[in-house]
Amino acid sequence: MIVTNKQLLSTAKRKGYAVPAFNVDNLESVLGVLNALNSTGKPLIIQTIPRTLKYGGIPTYAALTRALYKGGADLSIHLDHGGDIQTVKACIDAGYTSVMIDGSMLDFDQNVSLTKQVVELARKSGVSVEAELGTIGGKEETEGQIKYTEVAEAVEFVKLTGVDSLAIGVGTAHGVYKGTPQIAVDRIKEIADKVDIPLVLHGASGLSDEVIRACIDAGINKINFATHLRQAFTEGLKKGLADKGATYDPKTYLPFAIKAVQEVAERIINLCEPEA
Ligand SMILES: [Zn+2]
Repeated sequence: MIVTNKQLLSTAKRKGYAVPAFNVDNLESVLGVLNALNSTGKPLIIQTIPRTLKYGGIPTYAALTRALYKGGADLSIHLDHGGDIQTVKACIDAGYTSVMIDGSMLDFDQNVSLTKQVVELARKSGVSVEAELGTIGGKEETEGQIKYTEVAEAVEFVKLTGVDSLAIGVGTAHGVYKGTPQIAVDRIKEIADKVDIPLVLHGASGLSDEVIRACIDAGINKINFATHLRQAFTEGLKKGLADKGATYDPKTYLPFAIKAVQEVAERIINLCEPEA
């Protein structure tokens, strides 16, 4: 069934695993991720960032995902890093079941106020909301000013906003890591002990399997993967174009990209949601 993040993550929290959230860019990446959902039989989240929506149009990705989803394990359709109310509203209208509002660059009170507005709006449509507190590296504007999420602030933020899940800053970064990332696993645990909603980890593509498992054990219930999928898509596409059977017809070489996305997604799903 197509459900909300809140539904997927509350089960994950109860059972102690994380639901992977995959950033898609096109028809082929949606197909690759949905193939992985079918082959593993495990729930996942398909999400898009505003830049992707600008590229392909807001109604496109939810419609594409809904058209291609054939049932089986549960699925949620999520807006990643929504920056304003208008985008959130347009995504809810387009069929997203969950939205993120990223007010992490605002000061605490402004972030609370923006998040609260989105929670009120989303509630009316039964859509769940993720917010962010602290900073995650790799966005140009956060360069050199990474702020870890404070435990007391997280407690206060959740209480004031009524948000459903919270992305926290614990040393991860978006994109490709320059050095070895230092992740504050202890901080995850401290926040998870005090906050009763699911916690979200962004920027996981460059983390080792061991670090990802440690983050899940410490209390992370949703993990975002974007860079890994984009890399797999691109490598698969190159392989397809180099294949002797490839012709001028995109349907001969794009399946290589679909398969590469599927394989990396399957690996991540099994890492995040091990068999009970
Ligand atoms: Zn992110």
